[in-house]
Amino acid sequence: MTEELRACRKCLLYTETREEFFQKLDIYIKNLSEDDRVSQELYERRLNLCARCSRLTGGMCTLCGCYVELRAALKVRRCPDIPRKW
Ligand code: SF4
Repeated sequence: MTEELRACRKCLLYTETREEFFQKLDIYIKNLSEDDRVSQELYERRLNLCARCSRLTGGMCTLCGCYVELRAALKVRRCPDIPRKW
């Protein structure tokens, strides 16, 4: 019987520095599969809209609580605002 390896999703932020956390988030985003990830052009377009949005605080969307760099990278995700910005 083979045992699947599962990545730790990290539950407790206080166990590492913000810098370490964001490095891991960056690696996670870069390792998303092509099936899950939007094109680089669309990713940058989404992030440019987030960068100008009043809901963005500390890299996080205050409407949904997501880190926008992860949310914007995923094909299945949309901006939670009404109306949507992306
Ligand atoms: S996801 Fe939408 S509401 Fe949230 S920061 Fe980005 S543009 Fe603003």
